Amino acid sequence: MNNNSYKAATKLIHAGVEPDPSTGAIMTPIYQTSTYVQEAPGVHKGYEYARTQNPTRTALQQAMAAIENGKHALSFGSGLAATDAIIRLLVPGDEVIVSNDLYGGTYRIFTKVFAVYGIKFHFVPMDDAASIEQYINANTKMIWVETPTNPLLNIIDIEAVSAIAKKHGIKTVVDNTFASPYLQNPLDWGADIVVHSATKYLGGHSDVVHGVVVVNEDALEEKLRFIQNSCGAVPGPHDCWLVLRGIKTLHVRMDRHCENGEKIAKYLRSHPKVDRVLWVGFEDHPNHAIVKKQMRGFGGMISFVLKEDNMEAATNVLKNTKLFALAESLGGVESLIGHPASMTHGSIPREERIKNGLPDSLIRLSVGIEDADDLIEDLKQAIG
Ligand SMILES: *Cc1c(COP(=O)(O)O)cnc(C)c1O
Repeated sequence: MNNNSYKAATKLIHAGVEPDPSTGAIMTPIYQTSTYVQEAPGVHKGYEYARTQNPTRTALQQAMAAIENGKHALSFGSGLAATDAIIRLLVPGDEVIVSNDLYGGTYRIFTKVFAVYGIKFHFVPMDDAASIEQYINANTKMIWVETPTNPLLNIIDIEAVSAIAKKHGIKTVVDNTFASPYLQNPLDWGADIVVHSATKYLGGHSDVVHGVVVVNEDALEEKLRFIQNSCGAVPGPHDCWLVLRGIKTLHVRMDRHCENGEKIAKYLRSHPKVDRVLWVGFEDHPNHAIVKKQMRGFGGMISFVLKEDNMEAATNVLKNTKLFALAESLGGVESLIGHPASMTHGSIPREERIKNGLPDSLIRLSVGIEDADDLIEDLKQAIG
């Protein structure tokens, strides 16, 4: 089905997927093969070698393009492999402006891997989109946006950033992992490239690591496909199948993540031991108007800061939860709890971390789809 006029729930089930031509199997088979037999040299059914193409991957890529309202999608062995391919569009001397509250692994690949090759990254706040114009110069080739941000749940105006970028002939990339295509479609707001860690909400069951890039422009897709085939960070067919299967329930899961997220954010806000709660659904979120514009729901990610703002108080909460599991990652059906100051952001010096708005006691929740009352009970006994 490649009819883009269907509504989200229909697209999530059917987009890109046809009954298997050889058997009629309704579910896309896992084409576990490395190569394909040719009738004569160069005469084949569109598949030559599985680094280049695989039918399970093709189905997933068509589904991803459809649900992100894009023309092309490419899937990778991980979210960071997808990021790696995007940065390979650049050459030494090029500069990238990056939102400063960023996934730690993205920060690491930019500063530790690509900076060495002469690509320059500027990490700047983007809450006020207009303020990024001052960082643009003749070498600026890309603006990299993550929204909502991790773990501070800041919001960046994709439409405003893309408009500034376009004016200067710069490509805008949006990491849409936190929102998922069900809640936000950056291409609709003018972004050129969308990147996902499909490990999170798209896969949804904490059982696969995967990445996806979606674009509209043919030339961009051609370049990325060349990079993917040349560098080889492709996913296996079983992983593609798991993500394809995850996508079919994305809307049902996201609706429940949003519902549970709202109940828990409101509960935490009323808790006497909680100083503040960061959640994009609050009317008094500094960029709530932009949330309302570009997102269709508020998601399941929440951070909160304790009144007793120290490591020990946070550790006590983390030790005491029974349903919320202490783990990295997010977006799965089960609820997770994390402590950025000692986990994902542990390598950042304390002073700098606090200056960037990340205090010692900040706790991040990935709210799952269990019963909300049970989750609230768990937090109640853990916070005390
Ligand atoms: C997890 C994550 C990534 C990296 O994806 P992997 O699949 O772990 O390689 C990138 N961006 C965000 C926002 C993430 O949460």
